[in-house]
Amino acid sequence: MAKQERRPSRKNGSSGSASSGHKHKKQFGQNFLNNPQIIRQIVASIRPQADDHLVEIGPGEAALTAPLLEVVRKMDIIEIDNDLIGPLTKKFGSNPAFHLHHTDALSFDYATLLGENEETLRVVGNLPYNISSPLLFHLLEYAEHIKDMHFMLQKEVVDRICAAPGSKTFGRLSVMMQYACETEYLFTVGPENFTPPPKVDSAIVRLLPYRQKPFVAANETDFAEVVKQAFSQKRKTLRNTLKGWLDGEAIESLGIDPGDRAESLSVAQFVALANLYTQKKGQ
Ligand code: SAM
Repeated sequence: MAKQERRPSRKNGSSGSASSGHKHKKQFGQNFLNNPQIIRQIVASIRPQADDHLVEIGPGEAALTAPLLEVVRKMDIIEIDNDLIGPLTKKFGSNPAFHLHHTDALSFDYATLLGENEETLRVVGNLPYNISSPLLFHLLEYAEHIKDMHFMLQKEVVDRICAAPGSKTFGRLSVMMQYACETEYLFTVGPENFTPPPKVDSAIVRLLPYRQKPFVAANETDFAEVVKQAFSQKRKTLRNTLKGWLDGEAIESLGIDPGDRAESLSVAQFVALANLYTQKKGQ
């Protein structure tokens, strides 16, 4: 049986239907994988092991769920769409590894899934693109409990997650993800591999949360705020965006040019700026 954690209240507007008769819902980002070759490639990248405790966000009609469930000892599955709960339960309800949560992945407390002597979860999903950034930020709050994450996202979002400083796509998402995780662009997936096809390319990303971060912010809330502030007006220099937070002289004391823009800074430099801000705030 599915656990009913909260009755999701989002409106159901449908766009097209699958051969199963399921009506795809745009507001839930329902583009279902239809190519067995791509599904095999994703599963091979995840490399599921018999001892794994997996969490899948958005199983849909179980394109990834079915092959993963064949391997792992436990799988928690989080699905918001009421119409998918019955079919999923019917298909897998008798499998002791299968645990379905009918709830919103954006507000779910992932720490509750850990058993008494369990340390980490592996999280996977072909994510609903309309909520991917807030979902990634929410998952980062549980990074200490997560061994790795494999996600299908819009290619443009994966490009941003993996971007290097100085590149056009480097932004707040790049800094926040790279602060907490090692990021790896795995491969691109074209629209023809989904039903219905999305308008853009997709890509698979691997995220490995650091057990020991290479650069540590003294106060992670300050770090997140400094990064947000620095990228708040992309065309402006740090001297302008950080006005009232750190003056030009303070920025220069870290060997950073206050005339630079946020997109040219490394994660280490953002940590240095945030730590100086935390220190000055406490004075
Ligand atoms: N895994 C399936 C596949 O690859 O074919 C479906 C992927 S589809 C892109 C996204 C899935 O996430 C859908 O099943 C959708 O109903 C579900 N979903 C959307 N928003 C959600 C939310 N906030 N919480 C949990 N599931 C959600």
